[in-house]
Amino acid sequence: MGADQQLTARAADLDAADPIAAMRERFDLGGDEVVYLDGNSLGAMPRSVPAAMADVVEHQWREGKIRSWRESGWWDAPERVGDRIGRLIGAGPGQCVVGDSTSVTIFRSLCSALRIATDADPGRTEIVLDSTTFPTDGYVAASVARCSGATVLRASPAEMGNALGARTAVVLCNNVDYRTGRWWDLPAITTQVHSCGAYAMWDLSHSAGAIPIGVDEHDVDFAVGCTYKFLCGGPGSPAYSYVRHNLLERIDQPLPGWCSHADPFGMSDEYQPAPGISRMRSGTPEILSLLALNAALDVFDGVAIGEIRRKNLALTEYFCDCVGQWTPALEPALAPGLPRGSQVSLRHPDAAHIMTRLVSRGVIGDFRPPDILRFGFAAPYLRFADAARAAQELAAVLDDARVG
Ligand SMILES: *Cc1c(COP(=O)(O)O)cnc(C)c1O
Repeated sequence: MGADQQLTARAADLDAADPIAAMRERFDLGGDEVVYLDGNSLGAMPRSVPAAMADVVEHQWREGKIRSWRESGWWDAPERVGDRIGRLIGAGPGQCVVGDSTSVTIFRSLCSALRIATDADPGRTEIVLDSTTFPTDGYVAASVARCSGATVLRASPAEMGNALGARTAVVLCNNVDYRTGRWWDLPAITTQVHSCGAYAMWDLSHSAGAIPIGVDEHDVDFAVGCTYKFLCGGPGSPAYSYVRHNLLERIDQPLPGWCSHADPFGMSDEYQPAPGISRMRSGTPEILSLLALNAALDVFDGVAIGEIRRKNLALTEYFCDCVGQWTPALEPALAPGLPRGSQVSLRHPDAAHIMTRLVSRGVIGDFRPPDILRFGFAAPYLRFADAARAAQELAAVLDDARVG
């Protein structure tokens, strides 16, 4: 057997031995012709969603109307769905709540963390920000700083230790770099942050649903993340925030609303924060998208995130082997041997054009400026054969470019 056939045969063997292969049936992928590698941007649709949405709209809303806040459990949905996400990130109950966009949630959590730190020690006025962060986190951090008189210091997670000191209030770090796919060591960085007396806040947007995180186990103070990537909650599904249980009673959040009040229906002029994680709510929850997310999360029932992690490591390793053999002109954005999340990023000066051609051949990845081709590997619905096909199409696109 030639090297090419060996690689293809390996995909078949890996698929045959895949313990979570059946998870793919829980998704409506709209056919097998398209290889969808953009689940790190918008996860595919779980089959459980349409019927659940029809029930929400036709029964709970159309028939139940206002009664559904109580009878269909709409009012508590942010906490209930929060606990389901908590299970996936290693949080015990009562520490996660869902609502608002990730950007808004980052603002709320970062400002809350800063207030706790500065109240306890007025000298702690610095936010240390992951310098490789997704833009929104940086924009929000700058605004939190302007609102509060704090400053922002940017530091690479690789050198976080050097940036920390007596002025550090809170560190906002991404668990996985959205560009390169680098997976940062959450337990080690959290320990560094704590040893300088600051609070650790993690953005889990690219790891929740793909990697076991263990927020409780590793003493994470605050965490946020979006739910439409590997968690498959649907376009614009609301974000979650996690707050470690022993900080909950100290939370003084910057966007208090009637839904985070201790007695929401008392309609008092005086604000009294709700006990527990409900104090991280603000206004009326986005019930339609929240309940779509709730239905989507069924895909994770009975599956350990560790199984998903084993598979996405194997999938990305296999894809890297294929790329190494078939498209050596593409340079991995992450040096071999560095820890990787659930995506592979490749560099090429003509990346935007290559991705357009690849998409037209039925392999959906995405382009991130200036030169990155991004491929997300959502283990619940991808097969090793899909990784092989993606690498073959990529090779064909590069060949065409050379000829044409
Ligand atoms: C996807 C992503 C976001 C998205 O923010 P939204 O407000 O949901 O648009 C934020 N932060 C990171 C790190 C992300 O990867």
